[in-house]
Amino acid sequence: MYTLLPMKKLVVFTGAGVSAESGIKTFRDSGGLWEEYDIMDVATPEAWHRQPEVVLEFYNARRKQVLESEPNQGHRIIAELESHFDVDVITQNIDDLHERAGSTRAMHLHGEIRKSKSSINPNLIYPISGDKIAWGETCELGSQLRPHVVWFGEEVPMMPPAERLVNEANIFIIVGTSLNVYPAALLVFHVRKDCKIYLVDPGDPIIPSQLNITWIKEKAGEGMRMVRDEIIKV
Ligand code: NAD
Repeated sequence: MYTLLPMKKLVVFTGAGVSAESGIKTFRDSGGLWEEYDIMDVATPEAWHRQPEVVLEFYNARRKQVLESEPNQGHRIIAELESHFDVDVITQNIDDLHERAGSTRAMHLHGEIRKSKSSINPNLIYPISGDKIAWGETCELGSQLRPHVVWFGEEVPMMPPAERLVNEANIFIIVGTSLNVYPAALLVFHVRKDCKIYLVDPGDPIIPSQLNITWIKEKAGEGMRMVRDEIIKV
């Protein structure tokens, strides 16, 4: 009689770079701008307070772009790894390209652009059917709907469950993040001592020197192909 060994736990932590080959720009790569906008003008509670219609317009444009984009090889390889490992994806991205590539468990640390939420009760979250949240569109309590995204300066309520997942990982793969946005960048410090860590990024992310990280200096698609070939043979 055969006994099935439990699958190894693989946690993949992604940032804007994993979606770059799908045509969605990162913001570090354009000098701190996000699609030509200064993030302080569109991705902070102060911006929402000062110019909510501009913020809505910015995210409406990002949502339209996400709907017109397709997952790339990097997203697809991450999804396919579910045939070999017990996989959890933790993403800083607000797009849904991991889900559309087939990943069944993708935790969004910074929210989801295809959802809206009440601006007075963060627990009231709704799917968006088209590509827009309109000015004047309200939640059931009568307050303006805002994008369901975590802005700079806001709490990241998904950090504790994400930290627990990272702590369970046998293999931890970081893809396409500058490791420059906090508290998300601290997740890597929750790995166990025996966890193998890979980083796929063609740029210059901030790599913590105290951890033993195998850096594959490639774009997400090619880099994930290399990581996959290495981890499925061990
Ligand atoms: P970042 O912009 O700070 O860093 C992007 C990283 O991706 C860089 O290290 C860069 O070298 C790397 N990169 C560029 N092209 C790549 C490629 N083809 N393959 C792999 N890596 C590549 O992004 P971040 O660290 O994720 O932080 C930015 C924040 O902005 C996130 O919190 C996120 O919510 C938000 N954001 C999201 C999206 C999205 O949802 N797709 C896009 C832009 C920004």
